[in-house]
Amino acid sequence: MSLNKKIIKNTERPIQKYRLIIQTVFALLCIWIGVEFYLFVQYLESGGIASFYERPPGVDGFLPISSMMSFYLFLTTGEIHPAHPAGMFIFFSIVMMSLVFGKSFCSWLCPVGFLSELIGDFGEKIFKRKLVLPKFLDYPLRSLKYLMLGFLFYAVFFLMTDMAIRAFLDSPYNSVADIKMYYFFADISRFSLIVIAALFVLSIFIRNFWCRFLCPYGALLGIFSILSPNKIKRNQANCIDCGLCYKACPSAIKVDKVKTVISDECTSCLNCIDACPVADTLYMQTLVPKKKLNKKAIAVGVVGIFMAITAAGMLSDNWQNNISGEEYLHHYKLMNSYGHPTGTQSVKKFNEQSIQKNNRTENQKDGFYNRAETKGEVNKD
Ligand code: SF4
Ligand code: SF4
Repeated sequence: MSLNKKIIKNTERPIQKYRLIIQTVFALLCIWIGVEFYLFVQYLESGGIASFYERPPGVDGFLPISSMMSFYLFLTTGEIHPAHPAGMFIFFSIVMMSLVFGKSFCSWLCPVGFLSELIGDFGEKIFKRKLVLPKFLDYPLRSLKYLMLGFLFYAVFFLMTDMAIRAFLDSPYNSVADIKMYYFFADISRFSLIVIAALFVLSIFIRNFWCRFLCPYGALLGIFSILSPNKIKRNQANCIDCGLCYKACPSAIKVDKVKTVISDECTSCLNCIDACPVADTLYMQTLVPKKKLNKKAIAVGVVGIFMAITAAGMLSDNWQNNISGEEYLHHYKLMNSYGHPTGTQSVKKFNEQSIQKNNRTENQKDGFYNRAETKGEVNKD
């Protein structure tokens, strides 16, 4: 540190209080969706006798694979699949957030990220220090989430034809995927409970264990975040090398050693900026044009993107799905026969189903034209 350096104190107010409020509001919203969904499932369990409770469309946000497929269908055909339309808008908003403000969803809105953060804070309170894994363990563990994402991408976009993706979206399994997810937690197996408990305990020792090593959604957002034009910048001329930014970073990024933070682990939480004691030394900046972003503007931007895109879904009448209460009751009775798609065998099945469906449609068309031809109704030109 240069002794002649004139230090101007950072007097900008921290943003963490607002981030906590936003995280809390979003977590409460998720709890509210959970309660509404519980009431909806109670209606199904009663066989339609209990008073009808409408399914909350927000639950689609917890079906990332179906939402990603819907988004793909939308990109390739322009069609919004009616099974879980809200999921597609939520997925799109999260992708946009990452493209604009990095992996901001994880630290501003994601309820799992919020819970992980609270557990991590608890762990740091107990141990009075942050445990950072050595690189030889950290790197291979961090690659696990990319392996899972890679497998998912391979299964969906390489093994499945476009028609098979549609067959999956049209399938009864997809219609009740949210109810199946509900029973996964409501009727949790001992093995799943042990896994969740282990993740909980590990998150006390290693901050954000699930998010850092295992969440494929986080991996996807991490890739998009690299493309984001807004990055954390360090002004080396002002920096006094105190290392407080590194200490504050929940992702253990060596902010104090770089000019620009380019990391798939940066969640744009702005903790480092709040911790920096020197004015105009650490900030988020747009790369082109080079413009420093105000912390409150970032918070408004992150929430604004989410609200604008989900509002577009609601206002365009593409929020609630088209499955009626009667259809849900029908699916509910048969639900246990709808197997969970796993591995390449299931993918093969969807490909075969889509070919069979296509053949049926072609045969129906041929039949129609043959009948029409016999009646002389077809214009041969
Ligand atoms: S680098 Fe800064 S913004 Fe990124 S995760 Fe670390 S503390 Fe948060
Ligand atoms: S907090 Fe980081 S960027 Fe700010 S002065 Fe200390 S080392 Fe430099």
